[in-house]
Order: sequence, then C-alpha cells, then structure tokens
Amino acid sequence: MIPLDIEAAQKGSLRRLADDLLWARFDLPFRLNHINLYILATAEGWVLIDTGVNNEITAHHWQALLTGPLAGKPVYQIIVTHHHVDHIGYAGPLAALTGAQTFTSLAETEHAKWLYALTDEDFGNLLAETYHRYGLPTELVNAVRSAGSRYRRNTAPLPEFSLLQEGDEIKTSAGSWRIRTDTGHSDAQISLMDKERGLFLSVDFLLPRISPNISADIRDPDFDLLSAYFIYLKEMTKLPADMQIFPGHDWPFRQGGVRAQQLIDHHHHRLDLLHAAAQTAPLTVWSAMDILFGRRFGDHEMYFASGEARAHLNHLVAVGRLHKQYDDRGIDIYAAQDVVTA
Ligand SMILES: [Zn+2]
Repeated sequence: MIPLDIEAAQKGSLRRLADDLLWARFDLPFRLNHINLYILATAEGWVLIDTGVNNEITAHHWQALLTGPLAGKPVYQIIVTHHHVDHIGYAGPLAALTGAQTFTSLAETEHAKWLYALTDEDFGNLLAETYHRYGLPTELVNAVRSAGSRYRRNTAPLPEFSLLQEGDEIKTSAGSWRIRTDTGHSDAQISLMDKERGLFLSVDFLLPRISPNISADIRDPDFDLLSAYFIYLKEMTKLPADMQIFPGHDWPFRQGGVRAQQLIDHHHHRLDLLHAAAQTAPLTVWSAMDILFGRRFGDHEMYFASGEARAHLNHLVAVGRLHKQYDDRGIDIYAAQDVVTA
C-alpha cells in the first residue's frame, strides 16, 4: 500500500484529484475524526458523493463549499454510498438545500429507513436485547436501554432516494464511472470505478490504514457478512497496482491489491484467534471482544467492537469451525464442539 503524494484540502476548500474529481475532508465527532467526501464534475453540474453526519459543523462546511468553490455550477445529483451516519447523516438537509436528486442502492435505502424508523425507545430496547444475547455485563445492557438512538442522533430526516445499481454509469467531463455494489462493511455499498483512467472511489470497503469495520447489525445479528467481504477482497487483490484508490477515510493510495490481501490476512488471523480460544472454553461475544481487542470501550466503540466480534463468530459458525448454542439466560454461546442433548 503506497500513499499518494496528495494532502487533504483545508476546511472549506477542495483538492483536485483528476480533471473531473474533487476531494473534501469533513470533521466527524468520533474517534475516527474525519470523512473524505468526493465531488464529480459533469456537464449537468456537480455530483456530490456522501454528506457527513448531521450537525452544525457539517452544515457550515457545506455552506462554505456551496457558496465558495462549488458556486459556479448547480448540484445535479447526490450519491449516498451507504447507510452509515457519517455518509448519510446530512443527506436530507443537503438535498433540500440543493434541490438535487439523491441516490443510493436499494439495500442501503431499506436499511437506512428501517434504522431511522426506530424510536429512541425501540432502538434502546433492541440494542439492550442484542447486548444481552452478546453476554455483555448487565450494567452495560441497562445503560444502552435508555441511551436513545445513535442513528437518529447523527442523521437528519432522510430524503427521497432514487436507486443506483451495479453497472450503472456516470458520465463526467473527463470519463465514465461505473457503479459497483458490494456487501461486507455494509449491505450494498456504492463505489465508483473509472477503469480506463485507473481511478477507484472505494469509499469504506478498502481503506489504507484501518480495517473497515465488519459488524453484525442489530437488524440481523446472525448474518455472515465476512463471507461476502472475503469475496470482495479476493476480487480486489487483482486490482492493477497503479490504480489510484480514493477511500472514505484517511488518504488516497495505490497498490490496492496488496492492501486487500493484508485485510484478508487480518480477518483470518482474528478468526484463528477465536477458534483457538474456543478450544479451551466456549465464547460469548463479550469474551470474544476481549480476545480480539483486549480492552474496554466507550459507547460508540462498544457498538462497533461487539458487532465486529459477532461477525467473526458468525463466520466461524457458517464455515463449521464453531457451533452456536444458547444458555438458559438467552446468551449466545460459541463452542468448539456441538453439544448434542438427548
Ligand atoms: Zn461506513
């Protein structure tokens, strides 16, 4: 993985990455403290890719861009790559502000609408039930029950979404970007590739520094996301070494194939750690978090760390390396041997 020699633009300005491609970096109020947003130039106007979380800082930043470097042309379309709050949070206000048609994929729309429809109370109860099944301590389970919806806290009311699907093309002033949809970090993330020019907006599925969070979701905690992500990563190992990759976080880079292989190895290492530990004693998600991360977390990180541990356990079950059982308190247990009760 080789970083490109380009620095993020200062707040309120844009960095040009190609004739038709601009890069903005927005602040996030999380440990991962920024997001990369991209803008394509088309004959009809700007296509904005992702929006930031819904807060005052994002609103001011968009205001500065729309009245500054983007002022010369209309905003033609907005593309939300996936339903996570840092990508979709400000989509509603941005659509209202610009009047632009807003797109995402079908699975991402559905997931966003499902999450947004949960009231604070519904979200708290569902997360508490999930944490209970994960074997988290009672005080943590009780704390999230009344903590409200982290989704609604960071997301404005959603706009109407039009749909993009795999194979759709976006023609720009300098090339043509083909839409991909992939499963792993989310249900059907949109990414864009201009193969001819060797440019790839990978968004959150291929990142240069951190491993994209592969997190079982409270909507479907048993789903084996890692299998889908491995299929994606395997394909990515064949990316041309000089393709320029523009990720949703951190910095643009080359040698995406090398990076994809590192991520495959990283997940296999984690799977092996859990599989080995389960030979001594059955695991819960809580004990798996200890093995994978070896430390405790704040609320926001707890959500992702527990989901990540769960996703690895789901995969071990899916490939037959562990067996899922339930104890009499309703906690999910992952054991090396299948215990058959007569
Ligand atoms: Zn994401």
